[in-house]
Amino acid sequence: MQDDTKLAHLGRHPERHSGAINTPVYHVSTVRYPTVGAMRDAIKNRWNTLFYGRHGSPTTFDFEAAVAEMEGGFKGVITPSGVSAVTTALSAFAKNGDHVLVTDNAYDPTRHFCDQVLRRNGVDVSYFDPLIGGDIGRLMQPNTSAVMLESPGSLTFEMQDIPAIAAVAHDGGAVVINDNTWGTPLFFKSFEHGVDVSVHSVSKYIGGHSDLMLGIAVTTEATYLPVKRTAALYGVCAGPDDAYLALRGLRTLGARLRQHRESARIVGDWLETRPEVSRLLDPTREGDPGHEIWRRDFTGGASLFSMVLDRPYGDDAVAAMLDDLRVFAMGFSWGGYESLILPVDPRPDRTATTWTAEGPVIRLYIGLEDPQDLIADLEAGFERLTAAAGG
Ligand SMILES: *Cc1c(COP(=O)(O)O)cnc(C)c1O
Repeated sequence: MQDDTKLAHLGRHPERHSGAINTPVYHVSTVRYPTVGAMRDAIKNRWNTLFYGRHGSPTTFDFEAAVAEMEGGFKGVITPSGVSAVTTALSAFAKNGDHVLVTDNAYDPTRHFCDQVLRRNGVDVSYFDPLIGGDIGRLMQPNTSAVMLESPGSLTFEMQDIPAIAAVAHDGGAVVINDNTWGTPLFFKSFEHGVDVSVHSVSKYIGGHSDLMLGIAVTTEATYLPVKRTAALYGVCAGPDDAYLALRGLRTLGARLRQHRESARIVGDWLETRPEVSRLLDPTREGDPGHEIWRRDFTGGASLFSMVLDRPYGDDAVAAMLDDLRVFAMGFSWGGYESLILPVDPRPDRTATTWTAEGPVIRLYIGLEDPQDLIADLEAGFERLTAAAGG
């Protein structure tokens, strides 16, 4: 089956639900057992069956199975947010005395968890240049237990050579965790490229409508139990309503992403003609430093990218540009139908590399509006930017 067919069919069992197409929302805490024997069987089989509400419900199981199969993984572990997918995966593989390597372009909260929680728990954390590739061997230590990647990073979009990094990490006995929120289970098949745990913020493209918080960690056979047990030990679980919405979002993921990407290409082509834009940070574009890796490893691209302005305009001029946009909204998160824009500063959250761009960085998320309306909105914004900066 091709991916679009899988998206339509995975993770549902109408025959179990009187023929209803979608898996219903199962609100469940207690699960009743008819006999002592049945209860003992359930305890023995607790990682694979309906056991107790905290461990999952038929709604969350169907969501986990659909995403895992889309991405080519063994199983998924649902979590209440993307951040908790990251922290659950890291906690499963980083114990007191271990060393963890983290890409320098990682999502801020991932970094903060490593700096504030892992370090407090006796884990040695070091950051590396996202472009390091196989040279990561220089940084591996005998106690390196995990390598945390995010390719591309969600502010500055550096690609990592995941197969090269994974080969070295595995040689040293470390697992590779990758935040695949940008790539989605559709466009980056993590498990064909050496990833051991793929984490996603489901709140983004999979949910797709800016109305839910959810995450998932997709695993291999070897990494499933460590991740699932860690989720169970911390009491990490997710509600069935959100899992239902995520399954609904999954059905249209392919169609939405194609439209997002086409509009992002149109807006990106236009931005490249603008004198105010020095360059785009977007691995889907020819000439981007990550383009070769993206073309080699990915089958599609997201509609989230950044632009670097051509000179330091100053905060007030950037605010003049962004404050009066009519179609773009300002806000965190992305993946919904609405376009978003955000001024970002990559400088404070880097330690292994230094960010030295000419001008401010502005991140754009291209939604499902007509791209000509987005372009007109940005064009008026650039006029305000230049006027506020004194021409
Ligand atoms: C948003 C995001 C997260 C966190 O997800 P939440 O669902 O907001 O907790 C993690 N990684 C990346 C790359 C993200 O964009």
